[in-house]
Amino acid sequence: MTLARSLGAQAIAEPPRILDDIKFLTDDRLQGRSTGSPGADSAAAYLARRFSEVGLQPAAGGWFQSFTVSRDAPAIRQGKAGGLIGKNVIGILPGRDPVLRNQTVVLGAHYDHLGTGGFGSLDPDSTGLVHNGADDNASGVAGLIQVAARLAASPPARTIVFIAFSGEELGLLGSEHYVKAPIYPLSATIAMVNLDMVGRLRNGRLIVYGARTAREFPSLLDSLNWYAGFDLKAQGDGYGPSDQSSFYAAKRPVLHLFTDLHEDYHRTTDDWQKVNLDGLKRVADFTLGLVTALANRRASLTFLDLPAPLPAQASAPAVTPGYGAYLGTVPDMTGAPGGVRLVGVRTGSPAEKAGLRGDDIITRIGTKETPDLQAMTDALRSHRPGETVEIVVRRGAALTTLRATLGTRRG
Ligand SMILES: [Zn+2]
Repeated sequence: MTLARSLGAQAIAEPPRILDDIKFLTDDRLQGRSTGSPGADSAAAYLARRFSEVGLQPAAGGWFQSFTVSRDAPAIRQGKAGGLIGKNVIGILPGRDPVLRNQTVVLGAHYDHLGTGGFGSLDPDSTGLVHNGADDNASGVAGLIQVAARLAASPPARTIVFIAFSGEELGLLGSEHYVKAPIYPLSATIAMVNLDMVGRLRNGRLIVYGARTAREFPSLLDSLNWYAGFDLKAQGDGYGPSDQSSFYAAKRPVLHLFTDLHEDYHRTTDDWQKVNLDGLKRVADFTLGLVTALANRRASLTFLDLPAPLPAQASAPAVTPGYGAYLGTVPDMTGAPGGVRLVGVRTGSPAEKAGLRGDDIITRIGTKETPDLQAMTDALRSHRPGETVEIVVRRGAALTTLRATLGTRRG
């Protein structure tokens, strides 16, 4: 091993600084990172330095994308001074594929918070007290830096654009600005993943909003979670009170990862001591897998335009529109030649009852060939719950025909 190589290895092996990042961002000296404040500027400078340290390059135009807070912004109408300058911090990791590198995946997390209370605070007597915003959203920013560090060691095919947004708490202003003035064309942005409030994992419950904004998302999330083992609640459209909404409005597939609300939300008690660090690391690992899969997949995603917010149906025993009958397989999202390889089947599912198992490669469902996951999804969609269908699998060298009675997919 050459000296240069051993130095490189040392740089990569540097211990994660996830807690250091959270502590810096939530220090009282930053006064709650209110958009346009000196504390927010210190946070922005720190983030640009961290992006550089972990191996990102500044975006075309530099680390900072500035925007002026309009006098029409909700917070401004409530008395804060207009004309503030917000700064998005943007770093990129160029893709390694000569063609796919012209497309991007955006990973975002807002770094601004409520400053010293007033607008947005849920504490009635909190004006003048620092709101440190550890979960909201130092957690997401620290997670984003972890993902950046690990992707930089082994860049995927597409270019990743990492954005720490400002102006979120004033009404998604930073992400709105980026969508209006994208540094990399939105038409070539295949998806936006948002980390907002991911520091309070409880009982392994991870919420992913936006799961219905691309046809491929439900099965991709399911496949990734086979290894991650979250109690995953993947649901909903792309509208919600965080930065993914700006990208969904621009008709991009979006996902928002979230470990749910808690009693410290938008209060002075949202401090770093309450962050579930192991949980945050698990969410960062999951995000790494998600962004890698998105950035390496051969095809783009199929955007689903949902006209109106759907009611949450986490526990409603209804057929999910558009996803057809339920089989209960967990496909290998990295793909397999000539069919859909399974990493496993769900306990008690129609797939398990039919005798399907991990490593089977599904080549046909009913009368339809299934060369890839899209074809398999289409094949399942053409059947109704309760129907019995033939499923042809390649198992080793042999082709086997099994019969499965399809179930009802629960939302
Ligand atoms: Zn917030």
